[in-house]
Amino acid sequence: MNEIDRKTPSARVCPICGKPVDEAFKPFCSKRCADIDLNRWLSGVYTVPAKEDEDEDGERPAQDGTDEES
Ligand SMILES: [Zn+2]
Repeated sequence: MNEIDRKTPSARVCPICGKPVDEAFKPFCSKRCADIDLNRWLSGVYTVPAKEDEDEDGERPAQDGTDEES
């Protein structure tokens, strides 16, 4: 009944704040830290075109992005 020992903090730590990683939010410790990293990522590396191309027909290009929901 050592449920507390199920977590192994020594394995990984959150790159944002250094706390032990939570399995639900890995590689981060919490959704907050995941959001922080995501914001950094979006504002830095990932450059998204602000405007979408709108054709005369009004067709929107289908987004083939992979939604990773695990
Ligand atoms: Zn964290």
